Amino acid sequence: MSNLQITDKTYVANTYARFPVSILSGKGSEVFDENGKRYIDMGSGIGVTAFGVADDAWVAAVTAQLNKVQHMSNLYYTEPCARLAELLCTRTGMKKVFFSNSGAEANECAIKAARKYAAEKKGPEFSTILTLQNSFHGRTLTTLAATGQDKFHALFTPLTPGFVHTPANDLEAFYKTVGEHKVAGILMECVQGEGGVIALQNDFVRGVAEYAKENDIILMIDEVQTGNGRTGSLYAYEQYGITPDVVSTAKGLGGGLPLGATLLGEKVETVFAPGDHGSTFGGNPVSCAGALNLIERIDEELLAQVKEKSAYVFEELKNAKGVESVSGLGLMIGIKTVRPASDVIADCMKEGVLCLSAKDKVRLLPALNIPMNVLREAVQIIKATCAKEN
Ligand code: PLP
Repeated sequence: MSNLQITDKTYVANTYARFPVSILSGKGSEVFDENGKRYIDMGSGIGVTAFGVADDAWVAAVTAQLNKVQHMSNLYYTEPCARLAELLCTRTGMKKVFFSNSGAEANECAIKAARKYAAEKKGPEFSTILTLQNSFHGRTLTTLAATGQDKFHALFTPLTPGFVHTPANDLEAFYKTVGEHKVAGILMECVQGEGGVIALQNDFVRGVAEYAKENDIILMIDEVQTGNGRTGSLYAYEQYGITPDVVSTAKGLGGGLPLGATLLGEKVETVFAPGDHGSTFGGNPVSCAGALNLIERIDEELLAQVKEKSAYVFEELKNAKGVESVSGLGLMIGIKTVRPASDVIADCMKEGVLCLSAKDKVRLLPALNIPMNVLREAVQIIKATCAKEN
């Protein structure tokens, strides 16, 4: 262990099982540790550095704003916040945006919007939020309650009440659960990321969306991990042909600076009044200036490249030795390996490729603009590592 790693272990709260690597610098999809060893970054900070590390255009946008004003509180107007909200609404057809700092906060705001809408429209007893089993929505006590995985709940109870979970891809079970409760909103990921990179079935998503519309229930899509170009469309829900009432996003939106956004559709655009919700840092001008630059560059050409690169990875890995299956959408990919995923990830790291895990899978979330030659190099190493005998 290096001195840096010992200091971190001594003083930083013990919530992360860190890999034994300290990253000092990087450029694009390549990062370097304290010994100068090069790694190909196939995780992009868990889907955050959408255009890689120290991306020139993003750095320029952020730096320019830093030199103007870094923070002014939400008591005043600032340009990047307004322009980013306008761009997100223009690109999605949503009507208004609330900015926060993280995915969990974006979901908290979504839940508050659904509850207030239902309380005003149907009565405060319509407060239940329905989410899916195996989902992940964050670590605050409310978003933990939304998360449909018991392993995250143990010893942190009581969680925020008013959440029920139903299995993914089972419409009959969904109709039963939703019918048994006074439901304000439904929150789901189109591709369950932390749950193992599993894309929901189209029929299920459409069935849920139809039911929500018919019954005036707020449909919230959690695009924290799937959003901002990750799956080959600006937001994953577009590929399911649905129109959510609320979209929450974060991660890749800020490109490495903290930024969450809750996009409010027509039904809920006027649900909040001054004082209903707020955030000191939400909509920070520096984070928003960087995000504006990124969202402007997530255009049709880039999205087509995401799909092409995704097809390459799926094609290379789906019948590869030591690979049981490949799942996901776009550049959000899960690999079920014959060897334990943790062994594959450790061996990839030795060979200079940083991968993530999701449940029992190896998870890949490379930068959207990873150069094809770098992607090829990483995939060949991953392939060889999967094929190894233990
Ligand atoms: N929702 C989803 C789908 C996520 O994947 C995550 C984080 O992994 C979150 C919410 C929570 O985001 P954050 O860690 O920024 O609070």
